[in-house]
Amino acid sequence: MANYQKNIQSQANPTNWITSTPSKHFTYKVETNRPWKPETVLELLEQAHQAFEKLMGPGLDTVIEVEDRVCESNNLGARAEINKRVHSAQDFTIAVKFICEFPQNYGHAAQERDLAYHFFVHELFHCWIGGNVSNDYGQIVEAITQYMTDWTLVHLGWCDEDLRIRERINNQQIIDTATPPHTTIARYKLLFDQMHADDPENLLAFCRDLATCFRQQRSREETDISPVLQRYLGTALEED
Ligand SMILES: [Zn+2]
Repeated sequence: MANYQKNIQSQANPTNWITSTPSKHFTYKVETNRPWKPETVLELLEQAHQAFEKLMGPGLDTVIEVEDRVCESNNLGARAEINKRVHSAQDFTIAVKFICEFPQNYGHAAQERDLAYHFFVHELFHCWIGGNVSNDYGQIVEAITQYMTDWTLVHLGWCDEDLRIRERINNQQIIDTATPPHTTIARYKLLFDQMHADDPENLLAFCRDLATCFRQQRSREETDISPVLQRYLGTALEED
């Protein structure tokens, strides 16, 4: 495109990024030495991408930039920055960057590594199921993303089944000891776990229909997912 202007990144805080050879859908750069290799992260992301496409249809038609940054010890987390350039109702360009932040020397313990893998794949899941929804539903989107990310990591063999067992215990403890709204995500994660146990195809169809909803309404400010939630969650939704 002739007059497509590239975003120039501000370099207020220049770092010596270690950049590796991109894979099909991702570029990866990292600020420090990590226990995981760049090729490992790219392989994880490619496998998850393939699994999500199989489950939920085509993803974003863009190469995703992944930045693995160093943060203070209590600030670890991940987020996606999405720059949407709308040319017309049908035609738009999206640039997506994942920013995953871990402290220096993080990831040597198995549970830390599991969480790091979770962060990378979690942001990728949001490329299918994610975006602006009404406030009431944001936590459901977060819960299905956390649940399906862990399930995918175990299913693809990147994490042990132990991860899902720990999560179940953790969610139950939150429900028993915390108060709303902190309990909401935990409650939905246990609900999705139950739906999965009762009828796996039903939970997968729920993901597929949510993804279709986000895809069809991608050029809108806010996606209306309430019909899908009503269809699959019904009375469980009304408990809030
Ligand atoms: Zn999320």
